[in-house]
Amino acid sequence: MSPITDTEKQNDTLLQYKSIKKAILFCMIFVPLIPFIVSMAIGYYYFATSLEHSVTSNMEKIVYDHRQMIELFFKERISDLEFIQDSYTLNQLSHPEKLKQVFLNLVKRSSAFSDLGIFNEDGIHVAYCGTYTLTGKVYKKADWFQQAMQKKSFISDIFLGYRQAPHFVIAVALNSTNPKWVIRASIDTQTFDSLVEQVRIGRTGEAYIVNSEGILQTNRRSGGMLMEVLDETIRFPSHDEEILTFISHDSTGKEFMYATTWLEGNKWLLVVRQPKDDAFQPLRRAAYLIFGVSILGGFVIIGIAFYTTHRIIARMKKKDIEKDQLVKQLIGTSRMAELGEMAAGFAHEINNPLQIIKNEQSLIQIIVSELKEAGILKRSKNLDELNDSLDQIQLQISRCSQITQSILKFSRLNEPVLTHVDIRKIISEVSGMMDNKAHVNGIDLRYDISPNTPSVYGDPTQLQQVLLNLYNNAMDAVIERHGKSGGELSIKMNKRNNGWVEISIRDNGIGIKKENMEKLFTPFFTTKPVGKGTGLGLSVCYGIIKSMGGKLDAVSQEGVGTTFIVQLPASTGKKLVN
Ligand code: ADP
Repeated sequence: MSPITDTEKQNDTLLQYKSIKKAILFCMIFVPLIPFIVSMAIGYYYFATSLEHSVTSNMEKIVYDHRQMIELFFKERISDLEFIQDSYTLNQLSHPEKLKQVFLNLVKRSSAFSDLGIFNEDGIHVAYCGTYTLTGKVYKKADWFQQAMQKKSFISDIFLGYRQAPHFVIAVALNSTNPKWVIRASIDTQTFDSLVEQVRIGRTGEAYIVNSEGILQTNRRSGGMLMEVLDETIRFPSHDEEILTFISHDSTGKEFMYATTWLEGNKWLLVVRQPKDDAFQPLRRAAYLIFGVSILGGFVIIGIAFYTTHRIIARMKKKDIEKDQLVKQLIGTSRMAELGEMAAGFAHEINNPLQIIKNEQSLIQIIVSELKEAGILKRSKNLDELNDSLDQIQLQISRCSQITQSILKFSRLNEPVLTHVDIRKIISEVSGMMDNKAHVNGIDLRYDISPNTPSVYGDPTQLQQVLLNLYNNAMDAVIERHGKSGGELSIKMNKRNNGWVEISIRDNGIGIKKENMEKLFTPFFTTKPVGKGTGLGLSVCYGIIKSMGGKLDAVSQEGVGTTFIVQLPASTGKKLVN
């Protein structure tokens, strides 16, 4: 099986991110979007239903009120005529002057009357007051006359009659009069029209009257003259009292909301209608609003989903990179530990043969000097060279044993050896080690060490390790900011009033970001590239100082510099104030 390459691994991770992104986007868009759309649809449905209900009941109310008003008008006009018939005889009213006087009084009561006529039992127009010449005309066969003679009163449809102009009449024939005679008045169509038309519904609503054959009995505001047959499909209520509401359309296909009711015992139909557009305008507005809100809401949801998903994925990527770095660092650290262990074992193993070589070398040196003293070995150039070689061997052996001792010392770091430590000495040792690095990188090392700083109680090697690490970090930060010139590193040490010893290491390096300050002492936190930093230095330093009863703090400003402050209790033997 061929090993997985880095590119394959990367592609695999990219695919994983893509599918996670899809899943998150799907959840974030559809989970809120579906209830959002459903609630909008439910809201729209309920609004539409209640609006339809309110439009319908409003029209029903209008048509009902209007019917009452028109019927009252007819009742009043009929009672006007009945009153005349009760008050005068046929003979009295047959006199044109008398009739004129009665008509003028009648017009005072209602301007709707346009003429007045009196008819005898045979339908002969015996007297007339009005603009036409109708006296003497015979109406025996006229429908209105026959109906009036049969019923007590009668209201005609619009008809042309002798005058050849559209009009309608109200005729009354009282049973109490003997012989029966008829009084008839024409109703001014304009006055009646305006009475019927006066309904206002929305912008374009209107009212008009048709007879049972659909012939207009009043003018229609939107078009339609008296006696015209309408171009629309109107539904007629099945009984007197019923108000019918329905939606229908005219010949152009325009839809209207209708309310109809019978007038005068199923003779005329009162129609109130309003274009559907007009009646349902609030619904249309609500629909536009809901549509707008839905689109906007949808965009907001989708926008938030994309933004949040992007952030989640970015964070995941960052965490994954950090995890990878951590794993690499862990591997590096464990390798270092193994290497340390190996080095310690190696040093231990080398140390024994070294001791033997050293002993043997001392023995050879003793023998050579004894032989020299006994005069067996004469002073010669060769003897001098032999002595030089022996000295050289001794020197190299002691160098080797120094190295092995250092390795062994390093491997024993975890076991602190507590003693009274003069920090000044440690500082000067560490400075000696760092001098070269500072010099090479143009870093100005400054010291401000108070001469009467007391010693502290701790492990000198560990303290050395702490200071070395702080120096190193400070120099790295300084080099990162200034390169090979302009770096400054000041080491200050003094005794504080509470009896503690304070060492501060201040640099003018890159400084530490605010958000990193919290993580500074956590293991494996590093901003250095892989292979350079392990992120263990400060956490180990913190642990060491803590174990000595001290404190380690840092103050920093990004782009300005950092100061690490080590505080340790002085080893006075007295109880120290914290
Ligand atoms: P490492 O040096 O291996 O990164 P440390 O624990 O010693 O690990 O340091 C952790 C991190 O703290 C460093 O990577 C660096 O970002 C920051 N740091 C430490 N000392 C300083 C300093 N003097 N100036 C700026 N940053 C610092």
